[in-house]
Amino acid sequence: MLFITMALFTNCVNAHSSILSSYTSDKDSVTKGAYTLVFINRDPTFAIKGAIVKQRMIDAFFKVYPAEAAIYNPNTNRHVVFLIDPNYEGVAATFSSSFGNIRVDTVHFNPAWMLKMPTDVDVVTHEVMHIVQEYGYSAGPFWLTEGIADYARYKFGVDNAGSGWSMPDYRAGQSYTNSYRISARFLVWMEEKKTPNVVQKLDAELRAHTYDDGTWKKLTGESLDDLWKDYAANPAI
Ligand SMILES: [Zn+2]
Repeated sequence: MLFITMALFTNCVNAHSSILSSYTSDKDSVTKGAYTLVFINRDPTFAIKGAIVKQRMIDAFFKVYPAEAAIYNPNTNRHVVFLIDPNYEGVAATFSSSFGNIRVDTVHFNPAWMLKMPTDVDVVTHEVMHIVQEYGYSAGPFWLTEGIADYARYKFGVDNAGSGWSMPDYRAGQSYTNSYRISARFLVWMEEKKTPNVVQKLDAELRAHTYDDGTWKKLTGESLDDLWKDYAANPAI
């Protein structure tokens, strides 16, 4: 079932100049099944030009987030906030905070990027995996957290081809610590050639804060560096 409430906090929605001069923000709340997405826009240009990409982002969220949650963390937050943030200068970033026992997970999106690259909707897929991960502080290395998020983009992405996103082939000089797509490809290889579902197991260890250097040997029978050597010697996937 789909519920939509909408409020547009502007005095005039017909004249663009009026929107630009009086615009503060607009907010939608969409609920489907167990999940609610609150979509807040603070960018006047996005308010005018962003309707299509906004809908694509909402559609991606409801396709991808429940699927990621079902496999990795069914207890993940049922309420997520997307914030179109003209002050955020990267592409997107996810911030989590707690107010008493209420956890708030907010993904900040750069409106200029989303308007320029409206096909890059799987930024959503990567960012909401960070919410599912829910590792907190000091759970494991940065490269692994980001590698798993890009692995999720590869596995669950709704239009990676349309945005020109892919994992680069292995080449000499890479390291698993390169993070993002390079680490993601290593994880895909590991699942295909070594240990099925190893990402699910790594993710569980990271969330439980039981991950350490010995985790690789425990899950795959080999150390991380030995796994990488095998990968470098035969990186086909
Ligand atoms: Zn990330």
